[in-house]
Formats: sequence, C-alpha cells, structure tokens
Amino acid sequence: MSTDEKVSSLVYIFKKCSTFVWLTMKFESILLPGIDAERPLVIAGPCSAETEEQVLATAKQLAAAGVKIFRAGVWKPRTKPGGFDGIGSPALEWLRWVKRETGMYVTTEVATEKHVDEALKSGVDLLWIGTRTTVNPFAVQEIADALKGEDIPVLIKNPMSPDIELWVGAIERLYNAGVKQIALVHRGFSSSDMTVYRNLPQWHIPIEMKRRYPSLPMLCDPSHMGGRRDLILKLSQQAMDLNYFGLMIEVHCCPDDAWSDKEQQITPDALKQVLDGLVIRDTVQTTESLAALRDQIDDLDNELLRLLSKRMRVSREIGHYKLEHGMPILQTQRYDHILTDRSSHGERMDMSGDFIKQVLEVIHSESIRQQMVVMEEVKEKEKPKQNRPKG
Ligand code: PEP
Ligand code: MN
Repeated sequence: MSTDEKVSSLVYIFKKCSTFVWLTMKFESILLPGIDAERPLVIAGPCSAETEEQVLATAKQLAAAGVKIFRAGVWKPRTKPGGFDGIGSPALEWLRWVKRETGMYVTTEVATEKHVDEALKSGVDLLWIGTRTTVNPFAVQEIADALKGEDIPVLIKNPMSPDIELWVGAIERLYNAGVKQIALVHRGFSSSDMTVYRNLPQWHIPIEMKRRYPSLPMLCDPSHMGGRRDLILKLSQQAMDLNYFGLMIEVHCCPDDAWSDKEQQITPDALKQVLDGLVIRDTVQTTESLAALRDQIDDLDNELLRLLSKRMRVSREIGHYKLEHGMPILQTQRYDHILTDRSSHGERMDMSGDFIKQVLEVIHSESIRQQMVVMEEVKEKEKPKQNRPKG
C-alpha cells in the first residue's frame, strides 16, 4: 500500500469513527421566534389530545400561566392493543385552534412517515420522537427520510432501554437527513425492577450525552420518569441542578379523568406551583457542582437499593431451594468464601477490606432473616389444618 493509500484509509477510518462525527456536527437552535433562551424552556400539555374541550381548556389555562409550547399526543403508542391509541388526525384540527387562539406553539409525537406528513401539513411547530420509536432504527430512518428538506425542530426522547448508542444513532439519522434543530428529552429508562420511579433516571446517561453533544439542549420529562405527580418537582429540580435547558411536563385540565397516564398528570395550577418552586441557578453549573454531585449520590443510592432488593429476591429463592432439598440455611463455607473474595475485590477497588466485610455481614444477616421468613411461611402453609391456632 502506498503512503497516499495509507493516509486515505486512515482518513476513512477516522471519518467512520463517531468521535469525529460528534466534533463536526453543527446544530441549530430549537428556539422559535418569541421564545427566549431563559431556563427552563417549558413544554406542557396533556399526555393525549382526548376531546376538543379538554385540549382547549388545558391550552387556555397554560397560555395564561405563560407557557409557550403546548404538547399533546395525537397518535399514542400503547404497549398493548385495546387501549386508547389517540384520536389521530382529527385532533390536529384542535392543535391548529390552540395556535390560533392562544398563540402558543404546538408539538406532537410522530412515529411514521404518515404522522410526519400530516403534522407538517397541519402546521405543527415542533415534533418529538417517543421512547418506543427511538429504539427502532427503521422507524427513526423513516422519520428522517420524511423530514428531508423540512425546517422544523425535532426533540428526541431517550430510548426505553439504557442504550446510549441508540440515542446517538437517532441524532445521526436525523442530522444526516438535514435536520439541524435537535433537542434531547430525558424521560428515564424502563426496568423490570420495582423502583419508586416509573422509569429509572440513570442520570449518567444524559450526562454522557451532554459531554458528547454539548450544544444540544437537554430537556427532562419528569412525568414519564416519575410516573407520579408528587415526584415532578423533585425530578425537575434535579434536572435544573444538572443545568438542563428545559422541561416537558404532562398537564391536563382534569388529570383524574385523563384517558392515559392519569397518575402522572397535573393541573395547570399545579404546574405553576412546580415552576414557582424551582430554584434556577444561573451561574454556569458543571457536573462537578455540589448539587449535581448530590444528584449523582441520590441516583447511586437508588441504584444500590434496587440491587439490594434484587439480591434479597435471589436469597429468598435460595431459601426455597434449600427447603426443598432439606438443606440448612447457614452454609458457613460459602459465607467465608464470600467474605474473603469480596473484601479483596473491594480492596482492589480502593475500599477498605474491613468496610466491605462489615457491609457484607449486615447484608448476609438480612439475607438469612429473609430465608428464615421463607421457611416459616412454607412450614405454616404445610401445617395440617387441625394444628393451626384457631382465630
Ligand atoms: C408521551 O410523551 O406522551 C409519551 C408517550 O412519552 P414516552 O415516549 O416518553 O413514553
Ligand atoms: Mn404520557
């Protein structure tokens, strides 16, 4: 291979490397005329457009509260068939009314070429790609192709699974199609574990996205993340402390009657309270700031709790196994092995071996307690009826 050929293959490899792609991408602002760059940029509105009355009543109250961008799902991706799939195209007429009557910009979710075409025809001002679509490269490519030559901001929600490259891939597909006004929406990641959140925040993932794409605005959707009204303020504050640019919050004129996601929707008045309660630190925040570091500690503690509860679940399963096989709960050899192995592992990870031993001892004693509970429950069930205490 000649020197020229070597150089050009190196250039080719370098161009293929996504680091190079991040460095050369030039994004444009998503801010539409009349919207200033003040944090937080607020996008609010119902999960779904349900009726003309619901859309209009919510929009009027939000406009009165100073919100500039109204959201409403026209096409709803439901996990299972048989639920409310959204009103579809007729609801676009209601969004046009919102624009006309309140002066707000409107946004809706698109998942197919048809959605994009209809939304554009109807004058929708911003589009968003939902979490169930970001995971699907075919669907993202279809949307990107439909957007070629169009000039509209697109918000990309994080994929449902914590796979950062799928999020990156969606940005690249849109960018390659000529979409330059892009923002990201962090709405959390699904998990089969029981947690306080509907979707785990996993803050380190959007932090990594901000590192890779410092010029892309990051919004937080605390509604889908928390899945509960009472978590919205806390999550919004955490997002602000991490210097997020905006918030997308589900707001409904009568949340208890909502046709989808009613547990997480709040009234326009409650939204005002959330926004009034936020502390916006205007000095440039970095991930090293104290508040941001505390957020990371909160996130990691939640992660620890989740893992501990998973470990206890496995311990209970072991309890069942031991019972079925007539084995004693305490197996000292195994316990010794755990203590020695984990404490030297911990030392290699810059923690004191004694500390790891102490942590494992309390975990082990809780594990034993849980296995004893399992055994007692099973024994109780197996007791002949006549022996059971009356009452
Ligand atoms: C929504 O915003 O209504 C929605 C369906 O969101 P997500 O894609 O985050 O679940
Ligand atoms: Mn929703």
